[in-house]
Amino acid sequence: MDVYLGLGSNLGDRRAHLSRALEMLGAHGVVVLRVSPVVESPAMLPDDAPADWNQPFLNLVARCSTEAAPEDVLAALKLIERELGRVDRGRWAPRPIDLDILLWGRETIVTEKLRVPHPGIVERAFVLTPLAALAPRLTIPGLGPRTVLEHARAGGHHLPLWMGIVNLTPDSFSDGGELADDASVNSRVDGLIAAGAEYIDLGAESTRPGATPLTADDEWARLEPTLGRLVERYRHAVLRPRISIDTYHLQTARRALALGVDVINDVSGLTSSAMVDLAANSTADWVAMHNLGVPADKNRVLPSDQDPTDAVERWLEERLVEWTRTGLNLGRIVFDPGVGFGKNALQSLRLLRNVHRFHRYGLRLLVGHSRKSFMHPAAAADRGERDLFTVGASLKLCAQGVDILRVHNVAAHAVAYRGWTQLT
Ligand code: ADP
Ligand code: MG
Repeated sequence: MDVYLGLGSNLGDRRAHLSRALEMLGAHGVVVLRVSPVVESPAMLPDDAPADWNQPFLNLVARCSTEAAPEDVLAALKLIERELGRVDRGRWAPRPIDLDILLWGRETIVTEKLRVPHPGIVERAFVLTPLAALAPRLTIPGLGPRTVLEHARAGGHHLPLWMGIVNLTPDSFSDGGELADDASVNSRVDGLIAAGAEYIDLGAESTRPGATPLTADDEWARLEPTLGRLVERYRHAVLRPRISIDTYHLQTARRALALGVDVINDVSGLTSSAMVDLAANSTADWVAMHNLGVPADKNRVLPSDQDPTDAVERWLEERLVEWTRTGLNLGRIVFDPGVGFGKNALQSLRLLRNVHRFHRYGLRLLVGHSRKSFMHPAAAADRGERDLFTVGASLKLCAQGVDILRVHNVAAHAVAYRGWTQLT
């Protein structure tokens, strides 16, 4: 049976509790197949709760397989909760671990002890967001044709996932050339993960306007050492960031997939039939970015007499026909409107204001606006100021239900978002 479990923790070493609980499931006949990104969310509390109960949760969803009966799995979850130190201190009190059965195949179960689908799913962003990262197009038995991703957006508190940028390039527009040695790459990656990045996007070729294109071999030579180390480091980890490769070279994507990366961030937009075939024959997520040519060319932009969102929608509709024709699982595609690629500054801003319009295609959305020049017309602005500018815009993108924000400064985003959610 294909089962989705929800795990949450807001007391003690939250990540350790989550990974211990995942490890303990095996002894009860529950095999963990895939683990979602981890999201942070404020505790749900009644008005008269003590102030120190306001501890943020870390949450995740695990897709599992089991032959056991639902009541036995529930008993196992309660046992694991107790073994990890959960004591009954009342409904809203902080807890080292909370384990819930979210979905049990397509079944509906209503007994005295157990209700599946879990009745809280559709009100809880901290369940829907990680579930949508694993199975965006899944529907919930008994709740009609709406997908998990649509439920997540309908709730109005869809939680963002941060994708941290690691540029292994000498010439990127914002931070190229900084990560010159292994130690600085490692500390950048570790810093992003500690700050809350659930995706690490490694790029070896700058695609900013005027950048020099690389051959696939040169690109791979820059990527391989860092990528190999990351894959090795997380090979046996229960909780780990998703590793994404920012490339438009078929050969690089193929090599990266062979090493086991989770995402190909394809700035060429998943357009060539060879790339579509590669995507269809893999299990990775695929970011498809709208563009009018890579590297970006300042003189090649969308027509000025058209709404840029309309133009990008037409492009996406053509792509969707093609992807569907080749049998690609659309749940694995993440659409990126490609601000700064084939758009002038005002067109990019208009696209960002209207990004919610892309929800109707049922794909997850990624936006990569961080530190780009259209975000801060004052060319002299320093990096700190550009980051604040970016964060301000990011909150507006979060409010529009963007799923993944690809940013340089994950720490600033995580803190700003934590503050924002205190009032939502
Ligand atoms: P919550 O998870 O809502 O914060 P608890 O973990 O205290 O609350 O769960 C209270 C009870 O809910 C459990 O003892 C369990 O019997 C019951 N329950 C009903 N349906 C489920 C489900 N799908 N998954 C887990 N527990 C469930
Ligand atoms: Mg529970």
